[in-house]
Amino acid sequence: MKKVLIVTGGSRGIGHSTSVLAAEAGWDVCVNYVSNKSRADETVALIKASGQRGIAVQADITKEDDVIRLFETCTQELGPVTGVVNSAGIVEPYGRVDEISYADLAPLIDINVTAMIMVTGEAIKNMSSKHGGAGGAIVLVSSVSARLGGPAFCAPYAASKGAVDSFAWGVAQEVVGEGIRVNAVSPGLIDTEIQPEGRVEAAGPNLPMGRVGQPDEVARAIVFLLSDDASYIAGSNLDVAAGR
Ligand code: NAP
Repeated sequence: MKKVLIVTGGSRGIGHSTSVLAAEAGWDVCVNYVSNKSRADETVALIKASGQRGIAVQADITKEDDVIRLFETCTQELGPVTGVVNSAGIVEPYGRVDEISYADLAPLIDINVTAMIMVTGEAIKNMSSKHGGAGGAIVLVSSVSARLGGPAFCAPYAASKGAVDSFAWGVAQEVVGEGIRVNAVSPGLIDTEIQPEGRVEAAGPNLPMGRVGQPDEVARAIVFLLSDDASYIAGSNLDVAAGR
């Protein structure tokens, strides 16, 4: 099966590393971004440097029309989609729950939960044998905060990732008989631009391994779950958190 991958949030952080490592593993990659075109173009340049095809597609995954266009553009330019990684996400609003408003909360739930579900739905429409597709693999990027709870700092974010975990398990069972393996990864604290200033330096020494993780360390787990080496793995949620 031809390997054509969409990575939401592929311009930066874990999505960027996943795009580059997936290309090294033989995937053609459609790098999705919302606003950071130059970073998406840099990711595409690295994909091409490893001999694979790559394109950057701007799409706000909270907008249904954008998500449909993302899949259509990828299919037209690279071929039928056989892999999807949903990495796009945000953490804010920070702070205690009694300090935030409905307006603060809405984008978090929109991106981390609603859009993640809708992107998965579109992936299934493209890949499921039920819809005439050739099958494929989906990896959803969750977080260990789903079980840690993020007290006083990011409890709403933790709740959004709890939703990812439940959804991943449910949808994996729905489509495993249609040629699609859905899995999740749950990173611990990873050194990306999603982190507030100073957090990586402050928290690293207190973690079990004495350091935070690097995006490549998560990306390697994602690329494994996408690969045929994971052919009998579906509905799993792999912690990449070094004992946290
Ligand atoms: P990051 O470096 O801040 O990158 C976020 C990515 O999401 C960017 O590519 C951004 O695109 C994209 N994005 C944001 N909103 C979007 C939207 N509406 N539509 C499309 N793309 C959108 O974050 P990261 O640390 O790599 O996080 C990636 C995933 O890992 C997230 O789901 C996060 O919750 C999860 N995670 C991260 C950590 C960690 O410690 N870093 C730990 C656990 C889980 P632009 O570049 O265009 O802005």
